[in-house]
Amino acid sequence: MAPKTYINGKLYDKADAKISVYDHGLLYGDGVFEGLRVYGGKVFRLREHVERLYDSARSIALEIPLTPKQMAEAVEATVKANAKQEGYIRLVVTRGAGSLGLDPRKTSDPQVIIIVDDIVMYPQELYENGMEIVTAATIRNHPNALNPRIKSLNYLNNIMAKVEGVRAGCHEALMLNHKGEVAECTGDNIFLVKHGVLKTPPPDAGILEGVTRNAVMELAQAAGIPVQEPALTRHDVYTADECFLTGTAAEVIPIVKVDGRPIGTGKPEPITRQLREAFHQLTRR
Ligand code: PMP
Repeated sequence: MAPKTYINGKLYDKADAKISVYDHGLLYGDGVFEGLRVYGGKVFRLREHVERLYDSARSIALEIPLTPKQMAEAVEATVKANAKQEGYIRLVVTRGAGSLGLDPRKTSDPQVIIIVDDIVMYPQELYENGMEIVTAATIRNHPNALNPRIKSLNYLNNIMAKVEGVRAGCHEALMLNHKGEVAECTGDNIFLVKHGVLKTPPPDAGILEGVTRNAVMELAQAAGIPVQEPALTRHDVYTADECFLTGTAAEVIPIVKVDGRPIGTGKPEPITRQLREAFHQLTRR
């Protein structure tokens, strides 16, 4: 079945799902988005994603023309219209079309877009054997410039780091914050394991507070694994016993090499495997 895309309350075939070239989402990256996942016909952590979308919108002073409840219903209805059991959802709200110029008052009609499709993030083999990443020279946006907690349509910061990663032959790149601390990867959060303790940077390190991140922290706590959110440096990464990334698209993926250095034994280790399995179970519940 051809994918049906929701735009402002109507469903369109892929070829007809279009918005204006005057939209400030296109012209200036002025808008917010979410990536969600459908498992077994159910949207994973829909409430959390909708909440983050509305927080992002509020932070950039963008008023979404739906209540959070209406938005959640629209997402579910679009998934249903696509008869999707397993898939990926891209939820986008732009500032809308207007005249040229940055002033958000020049726009009218924010565009609410819901795309339901498929996504394959990394080759399956890397989930078994682990992935390699490098540290990008491009630092994560300074929180006082554009706070990484906002999931905005302005992803150039991440794309610049991704370009560095790809040029180094990797699928992902580690980004540090303005203090030189570990922040996150270009589209994934990072976790370390040291002496049986799970560690991940705190939200105020200048990261997107991932829905998957929070789910994995809950799973770890439920399994009796201590969880900490300290400031982390590359020293902590290089000396970690285990490392993995989390994200809606990536799920849980082991990292076995960073900047050419093997992490731990250089193979996916037990806590990573345990949390990967627990996350898989959670999405099938
Ligand atoms: N960090 C960044 C920069 C992201 O774009 C994402 C989402 N792709 C994540 C982390 C992971 O967040 P989530 O688990 O909510 O998908």
